[in-house]
Amino acid sequence: MPSITIVGAGLGGLTLARVLHTRGITSAVYELDASPTARDQGGTLDLHEESGLRALAEAGLTEQFRAVAREEGEALRILDRHGVVRFEETAEESGGTRPEVDRGELKRILAGSLPDGVVRWGSKVTAVSAGAITLATGEVVETDLVVGADGAWSKVRPLLSDAVPVYSGLSFVEANLSDVDSKHPAAAALVGSGSMFALAGGKGLIAQRNGGGRIRVYAAVETDDPAAVTGLADRERLLELFADFDAGLRALLVDSDGTLVPRPIHALPVGHRWDRVPGVTLLGDAAHVMSPFAGEGANLAMLDATELALALADHADVESALSAYEAALFPRAEEAARDSAANLEACFRPDAPAAMVDQMLAHTAHH
Ligand SMILES: Cc1cc2nc3c(=O)[nH]c(=O)nc-3n(C[C@H](O)[C@H](O)[C@H](O)COP(=O)(O)OP(=O)(O)OC[C@H]3O[C@@H](n4cnc5c(N)ncnc54)[C@H](O)[C@@H]3O)c2cc1C
Repeated sequence: MPSITIVGAGLGGLTLARVLHTRGITSAVYELDASPTARDQGGTLDLHEESGLRALAEAGLTEQFRAVAREEGEALRILDRHGVVRFEETAEESGGTRPEVDRGELKRILAGSLPDGVVRWGSKVTAVSAGAITLATGEVVETDLVVGADGAWSKVRPLLSDAVPVYSGLSFVEANLSDVDSKHPAAAALVGSGSMFALAGGKGLIAQRNGGGRIRVYAAVETDDPAAVTGLADRERLLELFADFDAGLRALLVDSDGTLVPRPIHALPVGHRWDRVPGVTLLGDAAHVMSPFAGEGANLAMLDATELALALADHADVESALSAYEAALFPRAEEAARDSAANLEACFRPDAPAAMVDQMLAHTAHH
């Protein structure tokens, strides 16, 4: 069996190692974080039937997932800046097919499903070539296959492509509220059990109910200069910027605790692809980082990982597995990236939230 080295233990890298493991194939994962809980693991994700949920089924982890999933998290509310509800859908109305889970929980399940030693935590990869990776310690690991599962700023990608993520013109400032049911009941009611979008031309407050009584808020602002968003990670300045939003909505920022985190949104060009290079491939954000407006990034990373693992299990040689995997990957990623770019544009049009409401009404009618 060829040796398989995975760079990055995000959702994509962990899913790949797990699905390979269930097919009796050994791999090694190198991750710079010291452990799966080393940093704030991000907010809630909704997993989709054809991607994230399918990956968990192939990984044999559906049951563990169901034990921590929040079915009610699929609910959606769209408001205008005055706080008027323009669209509302409960989880049942939306179909009940996209359960939510906190990213940290999902990573814990995936990491815990691997034998000890498969993931080498605290191992930063500093250089990569086809055939070997170099760690920060100077150790060189020779390998038949390198998989770049190392996210938007992948160290593996330059072996395949000159493309780099480009700033989207949109930045998030992240805020967090805790113990919302007891401390901030009005905010809890405003956001509901799932996601809430309050949009106005060029701006928005996007809030998600997380597990453990927490709400995560992304204040979205269009700004040409991604560096400027660092200055916006200041409650007073941010509140000034959202001065034309209803007081109840602004309370999501006022009531937040801890520091605000600036998150400029970057994306690879839509349709990013590469020519086959022996012994190297990419998955997830390393292959196709896109704005989070299709809600697909984590789902796609898990699906890519599953399809790559199944291709490696089904093909006699690595190169034919990689060719088959990439032939399906490129059009799939292109379609999602196109949707996500279109959704971003629709969310922040001057007449927002009209376009998003229309989209949701059309979607509901279709069902
Ligand atoms: C604000 C925001 C909200 C989002 N919301 C959603 C959502 O609701 N639904 C959804 O589906 N997607 C969402 N996404 C997208 C999603 O987070 C990503 O698409 C997903 O995390 C990609 O997974 P990945 O495994 O490819 O990469 P990552 O999660 O980025 O994992 C890469 C891993 O590689 C490691 N690494 C990097 N460099 C090295 C190195 N040199 N050596 C060793 N290790 C390395 C990193 O530490 C990391 O653990 C959101 C993204 C953002 C920014």
